[in-house]
Amino acid sequence: MDGKNSAIRAAAACLRYAHFTQKAAAEHVTGIKYFESSDCLILDRLTLRNLEVVQSRSETGKQTLFDVIDETVTGMGGRLLRSWLVRPSLKRSEIETRLAAVEELLAPILRDKVRFLMKQVADLERLVGRLNLGNANARDLLALASTLAQTPELNASISDARSLLIQVLSENIFELPEIRELIASAITGEPPLNITDGGTIRAGFNAELDDLRLLSTDAKKLIAEFEEQEKQRTGIGNLKIRFNNVFGYFIEVSKANAARVPDDYHRRQTLTNAERFTTPQLKDWEAKVLGAESTILELEVELFQQIRAKVKEETCKLQTTARALATLDALAALAETASRRNYVRPVLHDGDEIEIKNGRHPVVEAFLRDSFIPNDLYLNNSTDRLLVVTGANMGGKSTVLRQAALIQILAQVGSFVPATSARLPVVDRIWTRVGASDDLASGRSTFMVEMTETAAILRNATPRSLILLDEIGRGTSTFDGLSIAWAVAEYLHNSPEHAAKTIFATHYHELTELAENLPGAKNYQMAATERDGDVVFLHKLQKGTATKSYGIAVARLAGLPASVLDRANNVLAKLEKYELAVFSDERSTNGLKAAAARGQIAQVSLFAVHNESAVEELRNVDLDRLSAEESKEILANLKRKII
Ligand code: ATP
Repeated sequence: MDGKNSAIRAAAACLRYAHFTQKAAAEHVTGIKYFESSDCLILDRLTLRNLEVVQSRSETGKQTLFDVIDETVTGMGGRLLRSWLVRPSLKRSEIETRLAAVEELLAPILRDKVRFLMKQVADLERLVGRLNLGNANARDLLALASTLAQTPELNASISDARSLLIQVLSENIFELPEIRELIASAITGEPPLNITDGGTIRAGFNAELDDLRLLSTDAKKLIAEFEEQEKQRTGIGNLKIRFNNVFGYFIEVSKANAARVPDDYHRRQTLTNAERFTTPQLKDWEAKVLGAESTILELEVELFQQIRAKVKEETCKLQTTARALATLDALAALAETASRRNYVRPVLHDGDEIEIKNGRHPVVEAFLRDSFIPNDLYLNNSTDRLLVVTGANMGGKSTVLRQAALIQILAQVGSFVPATSARLPVVDRIWTRVGASDDLASGRSTFMVEMTETAAILRNATPRSLILLDEIGRGTSTFDGLSIAWAVAEYLHNSPEHAAKTIFATHYHELTELAENLPGAKNYQMAATERDGDVVFLHKLQKGTATKSYGIAVARLAGLPASVLDRANNVLAKLEKYELAVFSDERSTNGLKAAAARGQIAQVSLFAVHNESAVEELRNVDLDRLSAEESKEILANLKRKII
């Protein structure tokens, strides 16, 4: 921590905050570790959100990668798995160790046994926290003891493990029999929530407590016998001895029997239907009972605090055990997911290739009603470093992009992955630029947000990064956007320090021309066909270039009115004619740039389409044969026509 002054100050502020809010020193914080975000695969806030790693963007809020793979059975296991997902590892050795453990836990007998025992395990991490903050009650101690009670069997079940990580875990799961026995012998089976309610400490644990209880019970017994005696003596059948906190013990006689009350009774209270009395003898017993009970309570509190302090002395071992149990739970959960969802062990290597066979999007696959169509993917840092993916709207471009990232994340967590095989490098960061969102509160428009995100990627990506660009430049005019998208793709391909493996999904079909000029660019398309005017999605990633986006066909599926669709088709036909004209002699990268520089690329305007007949009419005018009158009439006519 030397020289890390800001980090030290931040940690101190956190501890002070804990101290302030918990009104206790957070003694269970036994150490503070320093780490850089670059120690792990960096997934910034945006990427985590775009990829829905732990937080969903859907209304149900349950469709995240974490939700799909979280088969943990303890709170602490769930928290650990979540933290792995947010900070996947960069160390190949660590990843391989986890993968080997997951592979071993795939064996059904071992996995079922571990998970069964784990289900009886409480959230030891939180229990240790409460223990140290002085909040742990008797039920917490029982939960701690019953957790420790599982440890011998858990250790026995993993004692023959071959995986190094599981062996280490086994060494770190402390059984602490003396703590377990202490709690079992001291705390009753069903203790009250509050120690002050009495009855927390078990009989036989402390002789003084036992004596006091006997005294109290004896006195209560004498009082009960006294009731019977007094019924006999007075002949009042409904005479009762009662207790309340204000008057203590008293004899209650109904009004009707008041005349039969003996002289040695002292009146204490008169009610509408009854009279209440006491006697010296009853007072004497009452003093014994109440005295014993308050001493019992004090003693129970004192004994409980001693037991808690004794358990607290083992904080370090308990924390180590909690960490090991959480890790075992998380690993068993990954094995359970791999088995249930048919994931395979990824092969990690030191090269640069990403080679996924029959990859699937873990979340879409889990929630899709129809069957998911798997896709292959190949990327490297030379010949296939920039994949331009075109295809129909709803064709599956975003899905295939995101699944590449999610598979990479899962692999670096140490999880098996949804594919039939996956060879992967260890990547240092995943960048995503996805969709459109504005940030009006901080004064940034949709396009500004898009460009800020793109700028961050271009400045910081490294050759070990993976970049997913799901559309760039959609927030501005067609040609501004296309030009930016083009230049971004070129930069990511050519820049020596920022040329990362990039998958670029786009509806700018012009970008597919990049592959003709850039040796590392490849064109892919998400296949779709048209049947009876409707688009049929094949969801299959294939080499090549899509010719259409089928936007209008998809708009039909979405329920746009027929008249709007007809008009859109009409406009499209005309636009395509114009687009051809604009691009016909500007087919190369340089050509496009040059044309932009010359200002020859103007936005194709819908107005141009509307005015087409007027332009056509103007074109056909023979000026030489027109009189002034006729010219004026034609001009007036044209003026009426143009929009
Ligand atoms: P757009 O260009 O309109 O953004 P897109 O090409 O990015 O569309 P996606 O959002 O990836 O399309 O996919 C749309 C839907 O298609 C998904 O929500 C999913 O239901 C389905 N889908 C995508 N890929 C597959 C697949 N491989 N197998 C089955 N269904 C898929």
